[in-house]
Amino acid sequence: MNAYERPVLGVSSCLLGAPVRYNGGHSRYRFLTDELDRHVDWLPICPETEIGLGVPRPTLRLQDSDGAGRVISSADGADRTDELAGVADQHLKQLRRLDGYVLKNKSPSCGLFALPVFDDNGDLARGTGRGAFADRLTRLLPNLPVEEQGRLSDAVLREHFAERVFAHARLRALLEGDWTARDLVEFHTRHKLQLMAHSPDGYRETGRIVARAGLEDLEGVGASYGEAFRRTLAVKSSRGKHANVLQHAFGMISPRLDDARRHDLLAEIETYRRGDAPLSLPIALLRHHCAAEDVAWANEQSYLRPYPDSLRLRHPVAV
Ligand code: SF4
Repeated sequence: MNAYERPVLGVSSCLLGAPVRYNGGHSRYRFLTDELDRHVDWLPICPETEIGLGVPRPTLRLQDSDGAGRVISSADGADRTDELAGVADQHLKQLRRLDGYVLKNKSPSCGLFALPVFDDNGDLARGTGRGAFADRLTRLLPNLPVEEQGRLSDAVLREHFAERVFAHARLRALLEGDWTARDLVEFHTRHKLQLMAHSPDGYRETGRIVARAGLEDLEGVGASYGEAFRRTLAVKSSRGKHANVLQHAFGMISPRLDDARRHDLLAEIETYRRGDAPLSLPIALLRHHCAAEDVAWANEQSYLRPYPDSLRLRHPVAV
């Protein structure tokens, strides 16, 4: 499985280098522009310029108003919350076709996590909030993989986000096409190890839905499967879960291997389980043996190739 569906990602425009920030600058994020860019298509949105604010412009801030976060202009005190949230509604048709979204942190429009909230006097209030556009986006599309660029410098979060985005794109390509029950079964079979690496329960749940594919309305089954698939991949994986999945894969191909290669592969898996090697090492060995022995079932597993190798996301030992 070497062909990758090309994900479509929404993104805060300034992260791609567009000079749309309040001060006329940008916040270009090189992981997006220099690495992901080759493999994805973008839908850049700047909510603040979309509601007619110019560049440069007075700053906005998140203000506590009877327990609700409102986005207030520092220049004239105008409340821009509803307009900024409305940008998500205006783009809803395009947003529904996305495979993920990368938001700019610390923005009262685009920020997703732990934004400071101020009181009427401009002093820090208790608690934190999220940007008006980001809040509406995540309410409209709760299963969409969404991250802030600040968190993507964490190797584990970056790998998880990319994995979800590329899986989302494969699922979208399937469900948007003229698919059959058999196609869904094949899709699920290819994702078995990947689903297990996130949640064995989720793997079983998606399997039960697939089993209904020939018996019930196909569209309904597809919608249920899509929801459960995305929810399962949203569950964080862990070193222990990965090691169990690697062990499972080992069990599938070990009858084809001689003692020396079995021993090497098991040792590599245990080294990874202890935290002394990156995930990329046992995966590379598994891929090598699966290809050499022509184990079709294993070769087709998305777990072995969840996204383009050139992203090198499984190389850090932290993953
Ligand atoms: S509104 Fe969002 S996209 Fe526009 S400059 Fe601010 S953070 Fe960037």
